[in-house]
Amino acid sequence: MSSGIRFDRVCVAYGRQTVLDALDLTVEPGEVMALLGPSGSGKTTALRAVAGFVRPASGRIFIGERDVTGLPPHQRGIGMVVQQYALFPHMRVQDNVAFGMKAQKVAKAEIPGRVAEALEMTGMASYAKRFPRELSGGQQQRVAIARALAIRPGVLLLDEPLSALDAQLRSGMLAELARLHRELPDVSILYVTHDQVEALTLADRIAVMDRARLQDCGTPQELYRTPRTEFTASFVGNANLLAVTVRGPGAVSFADAELKVHTGEVISGATATLCVRPHLVGLGDGPNAVTGKVAEVQWRGATHRLYVEVGGERVKADLRELRTPPALGDEVTLHFAPEDAVLLAGGVTDG
Ligand code: ADP
Repeated sequence: MSSGIRFDRVCVAYGRQTVLDALDLTVEPGEVMALLGPSGSGKTTALRAVAGFVRPASGRIFIGERDVTGLPPHQRGIGMVVQQYALFPHMRVQDNVAFGMKAQKVAKAEIPGRVAEALEMTGMASYAKRFPRELSGGQQQRVAIARALAIRPGVLLLDEPLSALDAQLRSGMLAELARLHRELPDVSILYVTHDQVEALTLADRIAVMDRARLQDCGTPQELYRTPRTEFTASFVGNANLLAVTVRGPGAVSFADAELKVHTGEVISGATATLCVRPHLVGLGDGPNAVTGKVAEVQWRGATHRLYVEVGGERVKADLRELRTPPALGDEVTLHFAPEDAVLLAGGVTDG
């Protein structure tokens, strides 16, 4: 069954605090939407509103064509996985996976087959008789995912499902989730995370949240290459955010340099913010060259990170294959392509 999710001006408040402010967002059938944002921005609240554990003060929530705003959780046809697995410690794996189906009144005869299928999908078939305490964290999380899938949900809600795992397990599970998504092309997934790598890797689109509001929404490539706001630019990937003055369409000045940039629909003479990704900055002369003094050099294995003081600002450059890095205090020239320099709408102020 394929069914998307639609938030229609959903507001949630705790006492006087608005934690979700008129959220409008549509997750298409079969799409993975990541809700990305810092802690406290309202991501979990949005997810719990879809699950039915949080009641909106106003607005409506739809799953497919169905308005589920007033429905209890078990009637919404959703599977949910949270950070702490939440398995029943006294139940074997197979009974944990069967649990949700009993609440959904799935016919008894059908349950063992579905349990086996869900455990197979998550690579846990040979662990059916174990208790949760006999499993690693990663295995427990697979069981939790199997339990969510066993009810054959149209919508899967994942709340920081990898954050309790260590880094190596996390990257393995990320690949597993991507595989599950390919195997379940009709299931819409809403994925809450504060980790941009997870969002960039897994999501078809990312909804960026900050302070109870949706700040931006787009494909990972759109948000990374052409962020609209400073918040998105700095939260999705690393960014140089440089204060510039607009000189005309596609032209700005920064320190002593005149630069060509990607967008230019802003008022001439206004100050604005220019976003340039550090790995797109090159060393030496080229288009959009700026010159300054090296303030810091960090070796990061695959790259050197240079901090260069240019006109009172620090420009970051991540450089590969740098055999002899410049020394502190050296004067260096950096450059970047005009198409890699994005003028941010949100950074424009009068002046
Ligand atoms: P996120 O998932 O982005 O970290 P949450 O949605 O969990 O954010 O929380 C958003 C805000 O709502 C936070 O300020 C949090 O303290 C508050 N909040 C969340 N749940 C409750 C609750 N049950 N009672 C009161 N305040 C809450």
